[in-house]
This record gives sequence, structure tokens and C-alpha cells, in this order.
Amino acid sequence: MIYKILENSAFTSNLMKWYAFHKRDLPWRNIDDAYKIWLAEIIMQQTRIQQGLPYYEKFIHRFPKICELANAKEDDVLRLWQGLGYYSRARNLHKCAKIICKRPGHDFPTEYTDLLKLPGIGPYTAAAISSMAFSKPHGVVDGNVQRVLARYMGISENVAERSTQKEIAKITNQLIDKNDPGGYNHAIMDLGATICTPSNPNCQACPVSDSCVAFEENLQNKLPINKKEIRRSKRFLYYWILRYDNKMIFQKRDTKNIWKGLYEFYLIEKPQKIEPEESIDDFLINLSVNDLTISEIFEYKKHVLSHQDIYSFFIILDLNLTQYEHIKLNYSYQFYSLDEILQLPKPILIDKFLREKII
Ligand code: SF4
Repeated sequence: MIYKILENSAFTSNLMKWYAFHKRDLPWRNIDDAYKIWLAEIIMQQTRIQQGLPYYEKFIHRFPKICELANAKEDDVLRLWQGLGYYSRARNLHKCAKIICKRPGHDFPTEYTDLLKLPGIGPYTAAAISSMAFSKPHGVVDGNVQRVLARYMGISENVAERSTQKEIAKITNQLIDKNDPGGYNHAIMDLGATICTPSNPNCQACPVSDSCVAFEENLQNKLPINKKEIRRSKRFLYYWILRYDNKMIFQKRDTKNIWKGLYEFYLIEKPQKIEPEESIDDFLINLSVNDLTISEIFEYKKHVLSHQDIYSFFIILDLNLTQYEHIKLNYSYQFYSLDEILQLPKPILIDKFLREKII
């Protein structure tokens, strides 16, 4: 990898001077509480600050101490997380809280390598906690840091590649302010978020423009090179709402893929689009309810996740008393009232459907 030599770089001192006057005012800044820093970093991954901030506040309000989070029910944690997506983060958050709560003083480990052993903590979060809570010199590498350093150093390798990310981690660890590593990490991320933005970076206001390769060579729009190979898949979900009176079958998802731990209606998934009525399966046939009465069918717009497009259909089936009792007697499916369903954690797609069509 070829990039400018770091020696004599004024990058760090100029960045830190700029940060002293331009830092963003966020509740997890200027503190060394590892719990709050960890919580903020987990919530903010893949999330815009405006979206994540209310979640951070809700979590801190509901669980002011890590053991309160550890002792909560998983359903309650997932319900609070609902709408943020990437639900494995919430499950790992809960697992990690349980581990920390068993440690002496309920304290996080201070070393980067020990933090990495905890569930849901990767290099980024370990660097953030160790630098911001314990002043250890570990640089974080997120999209902002990659962009700033790729432009500043003139790095023309693909930043989506693991090898380039490792190089950038090495560089930021060299540049880090040893007296204030947490401040340096906040500063470089703030620079990327507010000045060195993905398009139209404000180089005129940039504290490191004097020695920036991209600025010097007019490469701001060419760097960083970020070529991700994303293979998208399509999924077709047919939700059968088996309803009797005000009660509906609702069940916890136990699959390894999306939405594990959340609740949903009775689901039949198909590899391609078919007529909703044709998605019937053995369970529905075995209800011996040849006269199943479909009340309504709704087709929903495409729901876009990071790697998947979800096409969903909601088929409302009003059961008669015999069918309802048959299910209760012969199957383990649980019926919940609408009020109970509203309290359970569920995919945003289902929450939206309930609010638009059922309530
Ligand atoms: S001078 Fe421009 S391109 Fe270089 S780091 Fe600053 S904002 Fe980014």
C-alpha cells in the first residue's frame, strides 16, 4: 500500500485543536462511564445519531445501571430495541450485560483484548470503550475514520477489503493522541461526520487540509474507493392471522436468520411469489377446516433490509369456535389479545401492519 509518510504530520494536533471548539454535544461525550459508552456505541452502529439518540435515552432511563439491563427479560430488551434493526445487537447487549454484572464491581475489563472476548464487542467497540473509558491508545475504525484517512493519506485501495481496514487501523493507532485517545477518536469521527462528508466535503473549513493528499490533488470525489459486493435476496412471507374473537396466534421466532427472538403471526415462507391463498400448508389443511374463511388479504410494499428484500402478505382468517378449540387442544400455538401483542417485541413490518390495519 502506498500512501504519504506520516512523519512530521500535523494531523493530530490540528485535529485536536479543531475538536476543542467544534465537538458535537452528545450525552456520551466527556464521560468515562464504560456502561454508557458501550451502550451508545452498540446502539449507534449502522445507525444515524438522530435515530439512535432516543433509543440511547430510553435505555439509560429504563436501565440506569448495567445489572438492571442484565436482569431484564429478553422480551423487554427486544421491545425497547424495536425499530432499530439488527436485533442480534440487542441480544448480545443483553448477554454482555449479564457477564459484566457477574464481575467484581460490575465493571468492564479495561484491556482491549479482554473487551474483545465479550459478546457483541468487536474491534471498533473494544477500541471505543478502552480509549474513551480507560484512556488506552486504541483507534476506532468506522466509515468516517476510513473516509478521512483514505482521503488524507491518499489511500487508493478498496476500504471494503479487510487488508485495507487493517492498514487504516495501524495508521490511526500511530496518529492517536496518547494524552487523550478517547478525545482523538471522537474528533476524527466528528471530522468525518461534519466536514469530510461522503459528498461535497467542506475542505475550506477542514483543520487538516494543509497536508491532505485528496485536497492537494483534487481527489475528494474519488476517495475512498469502497466497492462492496452485496448479494441481495428476495423473501416472500405469508403471514396468516389466525384470529378468534380478539385473540390471534402470535409466536416467537427461533430462526438463525432475521428477527430471532421477535414475535410474529403464523408464517409460511415461499421461495417465490404465489397467490396468498395458495400458501396454505399442512397445519392449515389439518385444521380440517375445508371451510376456512379468509376475511381479508393485504399485500405490503417491499420492506428493505441490508441484504434482503422482504415481500409480505397478511391473510386474515377468522376461526370459528370449533377451529379455535381444536388448535388449543391439539397444538402448542398461543393466542394473544391485541393488547398483549402490542406489548411484545416484533419486526417493524408487523408493528406497522397492526397499526395501519388492525388497531
Ligand atoms: S481537506 Fe477535505 S478531503 Fe482532506 S480531510 Fe479535510 S475535508 Fe477531507
